[in-house]
Amino acid sequence: MPEGDTVFHTAETLRKALAGRTLTRCDIRVPRFAAVDLTGQVVDEVLSRGKHLFIRIGPASIHSHLKMDGSWRVSRRPPDHRVRIILEAGGIRVVGIDLGVLEILDRQHDENAVAHLGPDLLGADWDPRVAVANLMAAPDRNLAEALLDQRVMAGIGNVYCNELCFVSGRLPTAAVSSLSDPQRLATRAREMLWANRSRWNRCTTGDTRFGRQLWVYGRAGQECRRCGATIQKDHTGDRVTYWCPACQR
Ligand SMILES: [Zn+2]
Repeated sequence: MPEGDTVFHTAETLRKALAGRTLTRCDIRVPRFAAVDLTGQVVDEVLSRGKHLFIRIGPASIHSHLKMDGSWRVSRRPPDHRVRIILEAGGIRVVGIDLGVLEILDRQHDENAVAHLGPDLLGADWDPRVAVANLMAAPDRNLAEALLDQRVMAGIGNVYCNELCFVSGRLPTAAVSSLSDPQRLATRAREMLWANRSRWNRCTTGDTRFGRQLWVYGRAGQECRRCGATIQKDHTGDRVTYWCPACQR
């Protein structure tokens, strides 16, 4: 599932492939922007802000959000119907697949698209004090909902949300006010995403061996790594939550 670390790593990959090169192909397969052709323009920069990605090319900025299933890839394969955009430069082709958001913005104002975000967990603007203030502004809110709110801090998706509830010893349904140390939660969120910013196999436990990377996410029915209790799962809302009934209150 794409979260802030995935988008950061994607930006790194696209930057290596495209930055400084002149576009030789620009094929946008979204009706509203199908006529936009950036061929001949130089790719200046690729950056991530929370879960948003920007590719700045000449006067334009390609803004995308992966949502649930999207991805950007360097690919040689013939594009299929899921491909929304094809960019080529220096003999390298990158494609955007199933992107939840894809729009071409005026580069001068592209930051408006992310003005609502809280501090970016992987950004230069990261400030844990601001994140904590945002979090504590609504103390009665359910913790999972607050962590997933990108206006509080930007970059957390459902995997980190569940993992952070576990390491904080709080149920996803607990109130934000029940946190004993919100500052520590913000710091751990940053540490988790930072540790994973340059790899595709996400790990929150510190043990990168296959099957040992996560505390609770995706582990329903298995033993808690800390206490041995059976990890629980709930899928009643629009998101899946996982928790340890003994370690989390
Ligand atoms: Zn446990």
